[in-house]
Amino acid sequence: MSIYNKLMKFNPVRRNILAALAGGTLSGVSALTLRRAHAAAGETGSMGQPANALVDLDKKGMQLIITGSGSALPDPLRGGASCAVVVDGTVLQFDCGRRVLENLMLVGINPMKIDHMFFTHLHFDHISDYDYYAITNWIAGRQDTVYVYGPAGTEAMSEGAIRYMHAMNVDFIGTILEHWPPHMAARPRETPPYAVRDIGPGTVLETDSFRVSCLETKHLPDPSVKSLGYRVDSDYGSVAISGDTAVSEGMKTLARDVDILVHECVKPDLGMTSGGKFSLKDFHKEELMKERPQTGHTSPTQLGQLAREVNAKKLIAYHLAPYTSVPAAIEMSSMYLGPSPGHSIWGKFLHAMQQQYDGPVILAEDRMIFSLE
Ligand SMILES: [Zn+2]
Ligand SMILES: [Zn+2]
Repeated sequence: MSIYNKLMKFNPVRRNILAALAGGTLSGVSALTLRRAHAAAGETGSMGQPANALVDLDKKGMQLIITGSGSALPDPLRGGASCAVVVDGTVLQFDCGRRVLENLMLVGINPMKIDHMFFTHLHFDHISDYDYYAITNWIAGRQDTVYVYGPAGTEAMSEGAIRYMHAMNVDFIGTILEHWPPHMAARPRETPPYAVRDIGPGTVLETDSFRVSCLETKHLPDPSVKSLGYRVDSDYGSVAISGDTAVSEGMKTLARDVDILVHECVKPDLGMTSGGKFSLKDFHKEELMKERPQTGHTSPTQLGQLAREVNAKKLIAYHLAPYTSVPAAIEMSSMYLGPSPGHSIWGKFLHAMQQQYDGPVILAEDRMIFSLE
């Protein structure tokens, strides 16, 4: 194994830096950026574990798992933006886009162990594996109710996925149950094991060991359609999670003094890339949003400013675009991203965030694990 591959395997942050180096250019990446990133990479404890580490649900403590670091269009190298927070073995899943189930399995978590699922919003990339989860988790025999929460429309989305999209499969499971071997005690529940609730800002869930709260964020062009950010607090620490959002008062409140801020960063700063919708001035000017409403997103510079303002202890940027994915993924996203800027784009993202924020910055990759103990 080459040293490059060994390091890639060993440390996710170093992996980002090496990927930038491998791109051949480091324009915009200062020595200070590299020193800070290496300092972050050298941390232990709450630093991310390698992507092949496993989560032990029997262990006390709080862990954050990136179950998807990617963005809206398909990317075989990144799942859809999502994460799981595990507190003393209770599994809280935030969003359910592409590859959540597989990524949970790869870190050692059976998706049937999800106890609560929270949606930030109902865009396709955040719900795309929900229908598959809902059917497979049921047919595989989940007995305890899974509680599902999200902004207005979540109940209808879940009902639509199970009762309409999978009407044939619901009938099929009914037939399976009718003919289930009578001597076999283990069997799927008669009805899907989900309790789904539309929620608004406030405390969503409070137990002896953790509290989940949410506030509205700024993402969807129609203000009547809501998007949410979440915060999980426990005795071990705190994690704030944005879905898709522009810089929002909601996330500023949720992320105040947080131990780990997981925030979307799908939009490059103006001038970082050329070609594609994301590189146009229109996409970056707040005033134009009034004339031509569009979805709100956050750029690296804006995210660095946010992390500094709220005094976050650690910043993880996720919902990353497939700039350096396989050629077919780059081609499929090119109307938005333009041609691939090469691996140096990640150095530019890191640099822009670190120009604003002194704490550790991590570009998320699937299956990174962070522990708060
Ligand atoms: Zn998204
Ligand atoms: Zn969205």
